[in-house]
Amino acid sequence: MSATPHDLSALTLHHPEIATLRARREISWLNPGRLDITQAQASPALQASGVGEQDIEAAEARLARFAPWIAEAFPETAAASGRIESPLVAAPSLQQALGESLATSDTSHASGQTLPGRLMIKCDHQLPISGSIKARGGIHEVLKHAERLAVDAGLVRLDDDYRAFEHPAIQALLANQRILVGSTGNLGLSIGIMSARLGFRVTVHMSADAKQWKKDLLRSRGAEVVEHSGDYSKAVEAGRREAQQPDAHFIDDESSRDLFMGYATAASRLARQLEDQGIAVDARHPLCVYLPCGVGGGPGGVAYGLKQVFGDAVHCFFAEPVNSPCMLLGMLTGKHDGIAVEDIGLDNRTCADGLAVGRASAFVGQVMAPLLSGIYTLSDDSMLEWLALAHDSEGLKLEPSALAGVPGIIRVLRNDAPEWHAWRAAVGLDDDEVQANTTHVIWATGGSMVPDEIWQADYQRGKALLASAGRSSDERLP
Ligand SMILES: *Cc1c(COP(=O)(O)O)cnc(C)c1O
Repeated sequence: MSATPHDLSALTLHHPEIATLRARREISWLNPGRLDITQAQASPALQASGVGEQDIEAAEARLARFAPWIAEAFPETAAASGRIESPLVAAPSLQQALGESLATSDTSHASGQTLPGRLMIKCDHQLPISGSIKARGGIHEVLKHAERLAVDAGLVRLDDDYRAFEHPAIQALLANQRILVGSTGNLGLSIGIMSARLGFRVTVHMSADAKQWKKDLLRSRGAEVVEHSGDYSKAVEAGRREAQQPDAHFIDDESSRDLFMGYATAASRLARQLEDQGIAVDARHPLCVYLPCGVGGGPGGVAYGLKQVFGDAVHCFFAEPVNSPCMLLGMLTGKHDGIAVEDIGLDNRTCADGLAVGRASAFVGQVMAPLLSGIYTLSDDSMLEWLALAHDSEGLKLEPSALAGVPGIIRVLRNDAPEWHAWRAAVGLDDDEVQANTTHVIWATGGSMVPDEIWQADYQRGKALLASAGRSSDERLP
């Protein structure tokens, strides 16, 4: 259902940002609803969310129980004792390239000047098993479901060695159970691969924009793939309908707390990695984190976890394609899943298939309302250009979605936007010393499973864009 022209002009009057969204121009939005962490925790939004810190701890404990089984079932995790985790690495060459990009678009920054602070990449594209951030949430929910079934059947106890999940009795139990999911691709990969390995019957409903190689890979692992001509919401709807049978579990990307908590476990692990590298995070050493956002569960879960761990010292930003700014639209208007990008005339088409979502999760939007610092959008061309630059500077092989976090640091440090000056002053980031002590983390959400010839094609497009008029378009921020 689309908004009438009257609704739309009333909405735009209220929220002038909608005109920019409709024009498909890049935008940076600061969340006026953000609260200090103590106020946020006491806010009705978080009180009503039905989730809390104990849920993150429960998810961490569950992943630890399964680690011995994971280490054997997925040998690539054996070296990490069955922990599914990704590296955190410094990105000095990309930082240099971003500094040059900022200098050309914002003349108050001198060219050749390195950006202050430390730029780092959280390499979720290297996560084992499914090569994207979905290896956090998707896998946790499948494991939780398997655990509950096995415990209820009396086949395993919480303090048992979970290598028991290889026993024929548990495999037979799970073989009679179905798992269903609707996905643009990467969630389907995570759920499909893990479910099939545990012995579940698994069906992945995929949208038209899902890439062929993901469908092929899933089928090769024993998952059933159902293709839909419509978008992501249609695929989810089909999965949800089909799951209305006994012995079927639908993984609900739009509102699952179990997915969300799987993502949230990333926070304590990031804290440990920062500590191991001697990087402090506190009021004088802030952390800024840039998270590509689709339906919201992945970035939302990570941001929620980070706010629990670091409180006011962390500033979380989401990044969305100009054609799919569903979370921005939902949070800006407060309508959450009551409005879709199609309602304002956008077509939800983007090369960033992981972010091709027209309607955001209401659960995530409400939880993020007092916690999130802001959201920015970027064009497909920008993502492809960053894809080429991230490769040329740091040797990274990322899929387009995973590049959305790259320009976050320059959005935050731009001098030509008064509201960002005010924000920096309010959070202490206007102080030179604090800026120099800030750690910026780009969450690189996927890419290592992309077949080389497909990645090469995106890389060549990015190179061509950089070589042509490139960044000169005034419709684009860096
Ligand atoms: C799914 C995905 C995201 C976003 O996660 P959501 O939970 O949909 O918001 C970002 N990047 C990649 C590569 C993804 O697959």
